[in-house]
Amino acid sequence: MCEPGIIRKLSEDVVNRIAAGEIVQRPANALKELIENSLDAKSTNIIITVKAGGLKYLQIQDNGTGIRSDNLDIVCERFTTSKLSQYEDLQEINTYGFRGEALASISHIAHLTILTKTAAAKCAYKASYEDGKLKGPIKACAGNNGTQITVEDLFYNVIARKKALRSPTEEYTHIMDVVGGYAIHNSHVGFTLKKFGEKTDLKTPINSTVVENVRIIHGNSIARELMEIEIKDDALKLSVHGFITNVNYSHKKGVMLLFINHRLVDSSSIRKAVDSVYSTYLPKNSHAFVYLSIELDPKNVDVNVHPTKHEVQFLYEEQIIEKLKACMEAKLLSCNSTRVMYTQA
Ligand code: ADP
Ligand code: MG
Repeated sequence: MCEPGIIRKLSEDVVNRIAAGEIVQRPANALKELIENSLDAKSTNIIITVKAGGLKYLQIQDNGTGIRSDNLDIVCERFTTSKLSQYEDLQEINTYGFRGEALASISHIAHLTILTKTAAAKCAYKASYEDGKLKGPIKACAGNNGTQITVEDLFYNVIARKKALRSPTEEYTHIMDVVGGYAIHNSHVGFTLKKFGEKTDLKTPINSTVVENVRIIHGNSIARELMEIEIKDDALKLSVHGFITNVNYSHKKGVMLLFINHRLVDSSSIRKAVDSVYSTYLPKNSHAFVYLSIELDPKNVDVNVHPTKHEVQFLYEEQIIEKLKACMEAKLLSCNSTRVMYTQA
């Protein structure tokens, strides 16, 4: 006879580690959260340094507000945040973070160190964390205004995840995509990305422009073919601003950078809509470069459909996508006729 198993409660640390592994699935997810924190802290310059695709070492240095030293003891605990105090705030929130989970999650699956200085403080403070809690004392030290967060040995205690992410090169590609995307979207902020001890791979200046940053990151063959698009629709509480390539440009992979309420996300329905618009104009199996910043009433967007916050759902999707298609269609049509005239001239 087979005895039924005994049900036991998992220890809190194990529960937290499992939850963290769902929120942070690869180094690029962690970096995205850290970049959003730096932007929330009003940084104008963000420097990212990486070893082994972020699996060994991932550091982000910003020049933002810093963290108050008397908050350093709880900053990595779950559900500690300076951005939300009531449930209702979730609907109004304009910052990236909203549930105080990022630093906590990372500290459960990596060695995390914070070095931070506020403008008002006389010196910087440094603290290390493990499983959401301070590890050792907070130390006073020298440092610039802003925050430097170092994440080492990501997934050291999540063996299955570590094994699944075997290619630092692939992880670095994801990191480049995240940094490149945020640099284009936040063109007033300077971004630098480099591998530890090597030359800089990506650098955008402070107070640059979207088109200039596209040129820096994706090259002139894309940047010179960009058309600006803009939609405002009060009824749908929708505004769109973006840059899309004209019919002169096509590429077998293409690039789709989609921001909804300033968060880098994916939406298969928008992707499909974009492809369908371009399919009339581009050679078969080729794609465009499309950067779209869509702003919607936060009340109409649900960012909590997926633990990594990568996928979003929003209300009035069909109407919004129709608007978008019509706008892109009109743009492409106008540039297509210009091209025909050029070739005939
Ligand atoms: P959330 O962003 O949802 O509040 P996080 O775990 O990402 O949760 O961060 C917790 C808190 O730590 C933030 O609310 C913020 O006060 C502080 N913080 C994190 N990163 C930074 C940073 N780079 N600069 C200033 N404060 C930060
Ligand atoms: Mg955050």
